[in-house]
Amino acid sequence: MRTYDISLTITPDLPTWPGDPKIVLDRFSKMEEGAPCNVTQISACVHIGTHVDAPYHFLGGQAETIEQIPLNILTGRAYVLHLPDEVDLITPEVLIRLGIPPRTRRLLFKTRNSASWNRDYNRFHEDFVAISAEGAEFIVDHGIRLVGVDYLSVAPFAEPKPTHDILLQAGVVVIEGLNLSQVSQGRYSLYCLPLKIGGADGAPARAILIGV
Ligand SMILES: [Zn+2]
Repeated sequence: MRTYDISLTITPDLPTWPGDPKIVLDRFSKMEEGAPCNVTQISACVHIGTHVDAPYHFLGGQAETIEQIPLNILTGRAYVLHLPDEVDLITPEVLIRLGIPPRTRRLLFKTRNSASWNRDYNRFHEDFVAISAEGAEFIVDHGIRLVGVDYLSVAPFAEPKPTHDILLQAGVVVIEGLNLSQVSQGRYSLYCLPLKIGGADGAPARAILIGV
């Protein structure tokens, strides 16, 4: 059984959502300067790199925050669907054509976005592949409980709200910022554990797949 790390490495040059604060890693205690140990302070938005969106992110009010997301959805059998490079938008038509295996509950989309993490890693791309509102409805209607995408949003850049609203309102767990470039289409065991930050609208996560 092979283990695949599908998380992005958090570094100061990792692209962040336009308008969000940049990632700062400040090693304020330095052994080479005589300190007894190295200690780093991190300053960042919770939606950096590989991360999970909590319903509170788009729904507000009493919607679930990140520490309330059930671990039994974040871990378990998952299917990686490989979308050809020419797919720009994940729509019902694309999903019907490619086919989601029956009884799939966790669905990760490998698109041309994954290769971009290895190519020009530190530039934000507005033309990333994402899920249309209709695609989100299709996913909800098919009983999917978790969806993962390989760029920083499940929704198209120009229209973030409908896709997020539809998925989060239905209780679908959303993972963003995966790198699936090393993984081929098929079934795996997913382990995705967002940091347990109280009351937060999202959190960075380490996500791995284990071949089954
Ligand atoms: Zn997010």
